[in-house]
Amino acid sequence: MSNDLWTRDLYDVVVVGAGPGGSAAAYYLARHGLRVLLLDKADFPRDKACGDGLTPRALSVLDDMGLLGQLSQTGCRINGLEIYAPNGRSIAAPIPVSHGRPPYMLVVPRLILDNILRDHALASGAQFESHVHVTAVEPRDDGVSVRAERDGAAVSFAGRVAVIATGANIRLPLRMGLLRDIPPTMVAARAYYNRLAGLNDYIQLRFDGVPLPGYAWVFPTSATSANVGAGFFAQGKARRRAPASPQEAFTAFIRASHAKDDLAHAQRISPVKGYPLRIDFPTAPTFGQGVLLAGEAAGLVNPLSGEGIDYALESGKVAAEHLIAMFDTGDFSLARFEAYDRALRERFQALFLFCNRVRELFLNRLALNLLVGLAARRVDLKLLLIRIVLGDQPVPERLSPRKVLKVILAGAGSS
Ligand SMILES: Cc1cc2nc3c(=O)[nH]c(=O)nc-3n(C[C@H](O)[C@H](O)[C@H](O)COP(=O)(O)OP(=O)(O)OC[C@H]3O[C@@H](n4cnc5c(N)ncnc54)[C@H](O)[C@@H]3O)c2cc1C
Repeated sequence: MSNDLWTRDLYDVVVVGAGPGGSAAAYYLARHGLRVLLLDKADFPRDKACGDGLTPRALSVLDDMGLLGQLSQTGCRINGLEIYAPNGRSIAAPIPVSHGRPPYMLVVPRLILDNILRDHALASGAQFESHVHVTAVEPRDDGVSVRAERDGAAVSFAGRVAVIATGANIRLPLRMGLLRDIPPTMVAARAYYNRLAGLNDYIQLRFDGVPLPGYAWVFPTSATSANVGAGFFAQGKARRRAPASPQEAFTAFIRASHAKDDLAHAQRISPVKGYPLRIDFPTAPTFGQGVLLAGEAAGLVNPLSGEGIDYALESGKVAAEHLIAMFDTGDFSLARFEAYDRALRERFQALFLFCNRVRELFLNRLALNLLVGLAARRVDLKLLLIRIVLGDQPVPERLSPRKVLKVILAGAGSS
């Protein structure tokens, strides 16, 4: 590339991936006046296999981005959460008020949500190019070179720095050497249903009829329609019991859950679509030379609930804050990139380790039946379980299985 071209096409930040993580980062960066190029291999609007559930954590960032009003009009408002044990017993509670976040959830199909987010980034000044499949991000003397394919032809873009927000697609981080091995994942699949009975303004998190350790969900999209799905954590010893595909976990749930009659009488209006989820944040790299990783590209999906939109939005915002500080000070030293990693660890590491432990200890038939049975009689435990599922529970810094048990059974540490 000639020096001329390099100078003319130099963006401040090239963001790879226009999901919630990439679009949030692009929005905050462009709003600050930086020259931002957002790239995606897909054309928008595009679908993404997801439960479409926006937790209070997610709504809090969306509010900060000025999008809560628009999304509240588009999405289905959820005021509470119901947890079903493998034996079919259930507990239900309203979503608690916490940390000043909205005390409700929204269910917004990703086809709509991601397009609104991308449009918002563009309205704040970011540029967007679709059908750009990024194959490498390489360091240069004064920035990064982003190499890609568009319609079979090689293209490249130059940036001072890059944000990689490519979700669970690990090809790019593997090729760049950011990831050395295939990280642990869970798999999940979902479909949309119409004419589904038994819905209200609560979401259902279900462990009945699902291969364990795993879970299923029924997230209403209206009074009579829902996003229904199931996932499985194929890690450690559970790998041997893993369903052959995410669709198989889904089918097991549809056939065996206590909701099977309602589902059998409803109308499935979409294919059953599956995708992996990266849940390896505690050991995942979050930066490389000239690049920050955000969202699922940094392993940021809650390893208990499978929620990742919230962490993608939060990390996209944190990445933008750190990059803005670099541009404001002109300091692009390694220490600045390490500071981003530290910020993410401070915010998420203890929570993710805690959720890993809870999954290992409690996502089995016996423990779940016991916990839900106990929580039906103890309001404090019920609230605690709901806060853990929402990624909202303060957790101890140092964890032993005993401490995790103490938090769960005594409600210790809950505020
Ligand atoms: C079945 C299922 C159900 C789920 N349910 C929920 C839920 O209810 N709530 C929740 O919060 N989370 C849920 N999740 C997790 C959530 O979908 C993800 O964590 C979230 O989408 C991560 O956002 P992201 O921006 O990091 O990545 P993504 O949303 O995956 O976006 C990545 C983008 O990068 C693009 N891309 C990838 N590679 C390249 C490349 N090489 N070049 C150019 N572009 C590229 C992709 O096209 C995509 O647009 C679910 C996941 C699954 C699979």
